Amino acid sequence: MKVLVLNAGSSSQKSCLYDLSNQALPDIAPHPLWEAEIDWTHQKGKAELKVKTRKGKSKTSFDSQSRRADTLEMLKTLWGGENPVIHNPQEIDIVGHRVVHGGDEYRQSTFVTSELKAAIARLSTFAPIHNPVNLEGIESIEEILGDIPQVAVFDTAFHSHLTPAAYTYPIPYKFLQQGIRRYGFHGISHEYCARRAAQILGCDLKELRLITCHLGNGCSLAAIRDGYSVDTTMGFTPLEGLMMGSRSGSVDPGILLHLLRHENYTADELDNLLNRESGLLGISGLSGDLRPILSAAEEGEAQAKLALDIYIHRLRSCIGSMLASLSGLDAIIFTAGAGENSPLIRAATCEGFEFLGWKIDAQKNESSPIDIDIAAPESTVRILPIHTQEDWAIAQACWQLSSSDG
Ligand code: ADP
Repeated sequence: MKVLVLNAGSSSQKSCLYDLSNQALPDIAPHPLWEAEIDWTHQKGKAELKVKTRKGKSKTSFDSQSRRADTLEMLKTLWGGENPVIHNPQEIDIVGHRVVHGGDEYRQSTFVTSELKAAIARLSTFAPIHNPVNLEGIESIEEILGDIPQVAVFDTAFHSHLTPAAYTYPIPYKFLQQGIRRYGFHGISHEYCARRAAQILGCDLKELRLITCHLGNGCSLAAIRDGYSVDTTMGFTPLEGLMMGSRSGSVDPGILLHLLRHENYTADELDNLLNRESGLLGISGLSGDLRPILSAAEEGEAQAKLALDIYIHRLRSCIGSMLASLSGLDAIIFTAGAGENSPLIRAATCEGFEFLGWKIDAQKNESSPIDIDIAAPESTVRILPIHTQEDWAIAQACWQLSSSDG
């Protein structure tokens, strides 16, 4: 079965093709036959296309026409160009899409129907950057591949078991009825990591209490019990919670009132301030990328050091709140760019919980560990850096839905 995955971001379109057996899913993610990415940020009016197959890699740049036309150019490299991997588009059996917002209606992966498309469009009010591009991806596939089965996998779905106490904001009740509540995001990654942790530990996921730390450009935590997220740090939008690359995370809403009243900020200016000018970038004045901050902090640069200290402080304090929601913990998982690659972030985070008996094995932590336990034997919790594989999780969802359908 050939499964095409589309993962649309605000300024990029990633995609990959898996070739899966019809009989059973492998435990470990196989390498995709083909991976491609279009990046619209490199040069104005241009699309940069990178393609990787088992035969080689290519990078080209072309005049951007529209998101839809550029996506078609990317897909054409599947069956044309230098390293085609299939003979024609009809070889693709099913297409899976990452869809950021499924609201409270969509609690699991679902086949795309006209009703579902209408819901994705309606939920664009809550995810104005992502849902429209996710929908455009679905419609592009309809144009190119006709009525091929398509599946939407939602970033919010894994958090749909949050209790009312965890998802309701303490503002007038009528806003809850208007859908203003916490939804949580990065659910595909949190769920994948939870399942992978259970595999690594050889346990039933339902028996485990886990905290997953997704630390990429966007950062969020999930507290997982009985196989579901019961608490998470992102909320109504992906702006709440931890300090991120250029997003502030949680701040006192009184600051926004102050800026509106006394500094004449507009909604768009506040949006820009909180989403693009804050976080590591806003404090360090250097970068939203953690790597240069780590280097500058090591060299003693004061603002970089402060940025790093806030990042760790907030990470520890949000982990504390996830711990309280779980009333205990079996394993903590570090994933995404910083979680997978930074021994310093993992060590500094766990150091805050030594009083609870968390103990990292320093040597294992430094040895680029992935998908293994790096806790010292006497540690009260297991500590797992896990490589998140959202595209593989989407392909798995397609396989499962089409198997149960047939
Ligand atoms: P995205 O959220 O865009 O998918 P990634 O998961 O790739 O992003 O994570 C990007 C973040 O990971 C950046 O802040 C980057 O600095 C950080 N990162 C990647 N590699 C390392 C590393 N070796 N050490 C520290 N941070 C890293």
